[in-house]
Amino acid sequence: LASRDFHPDNTTITVGDHVIGGSEPTIIAGPCSVESLEGIIDIAHAVKKSGAQLLRGGAFKPRSSPYSFQGLGEEGLQYLASAREATGLGIVSEVMEPGLVELVAEYVDVLQIGARNMQNFALLKAVGRTNKAVLLKRGFANSMEEWLMSAEYVMSEGNPNVILCERGIRTFETYTRNTLDLNAIPVVQHLSHLPILVDPSHGVGNSRYVTPMARAGIASGAQGVIVEVHPNPAEAWSDGAQSLNLDQFAEMAKQVRQTHTLV
Ligand code: PEP
Ligand code: MN
Repeated sequence: LASRDFHPDNTTITVGDHVIGGSEPTIIAGPCSVESLEGIIDIAHAVKKSGAQLLRGGAFKPRSSPYSFQGLGEEGLQYLASAREATGLGIVSEVMEPGLVELVAEYVDVLQIGARNMQNFALLKAVGRTNKAVLLKRGFANSMEEWLMSAEYVMSEGNPNVILCERGIRTFETYTRNTLDLNAIPVVQHLSHLPILVDPSHGVGNSRYVTPMARAGIASGAQGVIVEVHPNPAEAWSDGAQSLNLDQFAEMAKQVRQTHTLV
């Protein structure tokens, strides 16, 4: 179902009034974690003004340590829904377990499957039974073939609305958190009709390198970017080091649009 052999034309996925895979590059922005109602509403207004069409924010967080902040849970989802009401931006948020799919789907427009859950087959099947778009991140140790098979899990349950997202893979390199595998963009586009985005924030792990890699992702053919943005990255409750501040995000969005006109 994900293969281009059976579906030669590119798939587009409409979320609210934005078309992913359409003529404009998709820009999804927001904090790693939702922290407060006022905070997420302020970020939503700011990123919308700079050109984001969708708002991201984690409410259920897959943290490496059980002692780290795990997200606000349903309260975070309620704040995201308020931010949608305030701005009209569609909402992207991660769901980590099959039992929570129904709950998260009540609040969001796009269900994110995180890198750590790319092969959680029960979860893939559960989101496949919803009618929400699914942002399927590539696992940091998964091949492109495994990734496309995970898309197949979602689609074979009846949900065709899968958006792929390259977010970096693990390599021997230590100067960056991961290595954003831009090879995946043309390869996956050759093999599949699904739209594909890049996440340079998790790909590099350092805000200094996010904008160049966002540009590179668009130059390689990605249909958009998802990036972490926080008004005060040093104070962010998670992933502050890789979060752009509001001015840096505005500049990145401008460069993404410029780069897109050249592709
Ligand atoms: C995130 O988007 O904040 C996240 C946890 O991403 P990933 O699953 O790619 O690590
Ligand atoms: Mn994050």
